[in-house]
Amino acid sequence: MKFIFVSGGVISGVGKGISAASIGLLLSKRGYGVSFMKCDPYINVDAGTMNPIEHGEVFVTDDGYEVDMDGGHYERFTEIPLSRINSITTGQLYSTVIQNERSLKYDGECVEVIPHIRDEIVRRIEQFKNKNIDILFVEIGGTIGEFQNDIYYEAERFMKRKYGGDLMHIHIAYLPVPRSIGEMKTKPLQQSVMLLHERGIFPDLIIGRSELPIDKSRIRKIAVNAGVAEDLVFSNTDVNSIYKVPMQFYDQKLDIKVLKFLKLKVKSIDLKSWKNLINKIDTKFSKTISIGIVGKYYASGNFSLEDSYISVIESIKIACWYNHVCFNIVWIDSEKNIQDKLATCDCIIVPGGFGSRGVDGKIEAIKYAREHSIPFLGLCYGMQLAVVEYARNVLGIKDANTSEINPKTKNPVVHIMSSQEKKLLSKDYGGSMRLGSWNCKVKQGTKTFQSYKKTLISERHRHRYEFNNLYRSQLENAGMIVAGESENGNLVEIVEIPTHKFFIGVQFHPEFKSRALLPHPLFSSLIKSAIK
Ligand code: GLN
Repeated sequence: MKFIFVSGGVISGVGKGISAASIGLLLSKRGYGVSFMKCDPYINVDAGTMNPIEHGEVFVTDDGYEVDMDGGHYERFTEIPLSRINSITTGQLYSTVIQNERSLKYDGECVEVIPHIRDEIVRRIEQFKNKNIDILFVEIGGTIGEFQNDIYYEAERFMKRKYGGDLMHIHIAYLPVPRSIGEMKTKPLQQSVMLLHERGIFPDLIIGRSELPIDKSRIRKIAVNAGVAEDLVFSNTDVNSIYKVPMQFYDQKLDIKVLKFLKLKVKSIDLKSWKNLINKIDTKFSKTISIGIVGKYYASGNFSLEDSYISVIESIKIACWYNHVCFNIVWIDSEKNIQDKLATCDCIIVPGGFGSRGVDGKIEAIKYAREHSIPFLGLCYGMQLAVVEYARNVLGIKDANTSEINPKTKNPVVHIMSSQEKKLLSKDYGGSMRLGSWNCKVKQGTKTFQSYKKTLISERHRHRYEFNNLYRSQLENAGMIVAGESENGNLVEIVEIPTHKFFIGVQFHPEFKSRALLPHPLFSSLIKSAIK
């Protein structure tokens, strides 16, 4: 097994995740078993407790692990499913080591950062052996030079002594072109490499992230100063779509250089389907549709609205490309006046969410979509609020609510799952929702069935509340039907209004299952309906 460590320099958000996903895609298309490990230097045990405004979307794996949004990029690019072993956080390391210490696993030793925390990192990385993986990417979160990720570099330095040429390091750093100077500057990148050197890490391949391709003389300068061969310095130039990054690397033969470095055979590659995707991205289709996303995690701090809803947005884009239509995403802040914006939309999505902030606007948007016959897709909270809206405005149950917002409501059409009640009372919030993939039976003859074309599907979940079955027959009699339920029939997973052009609410997150080359059936149907 070979290891490729990936670090970032100069600025955060330099594109380590996209670069690793892109190289991983090329290597897997060349027939290698690839996997990814993300090392996050925060104390949170997982990304589940972090606000999307602070840290971007929480992505959920099949086995119900809540990981940060890079997980989504890895899966969308490579179609390689991740699980909980693909992520390390500093919080996990310390929990494990402290648990070991409490159960005397260290035989009375003094337990310290070195060797115990370092060895826990190595142990987790080495877990991937014997899993049919040829190449494991280990992305070290954050930027080189930060105090909090040093231990991960130390683990790499330690592993390098053991694995030698089977371990390579790729460093990705920013090359600014300051406006007042007007030329590309390589010094910050050189200094970030010096920070790696100080930690005993000698990068083998450098990727310069910049507005323009790096010219020959600068490549030479970077190579000389970083101590790498000139043909191991590459450009990752700004592109209008992240899906073009693999092609950039392919054109520069980066994947071949990696394989040669790792002494692996250069097998053939077929990028036809990926090139086909790029062609679609570049096509100016004759039609453009406007897609409204009604949410509350709007731009703030380092993360933008796009990061909070990244899987939803990528799902929309992919579905539009494959349905040959250009798109315009309309951001609708559910805490503002939304009517004017709703009127410009060809379809409306209410994505997942928590708590009462912004809920009134979301319900207003759902009502608008229902009454104006605008294609609508409700995702998780969006589905639950569609049930609330229908109960209030069609069934006339004025105080219908989800007990998440009003625990005392007389009409909890959405209520806490019985398995979740105790967890909330004991404040057991971390990683305790109904998480991960669960099967769902789809009812034939529904629009959902027309989309999936099958009766058994598996989708990823992340929720504590559920449709209250006490209201099922009332809602169904009034025209909101159950189009999907859990395998044992206890849990409503999908609701639909059959008389509406397209009105579907799902308790799960289909956005986590879109792949660059495989648009998700529900998003695809929504877009088709919007085009009509
Ligand atoms: N807040 C809702 C619940 O916990 C919906 C969660 C979500 O949208 N992911 O059930």
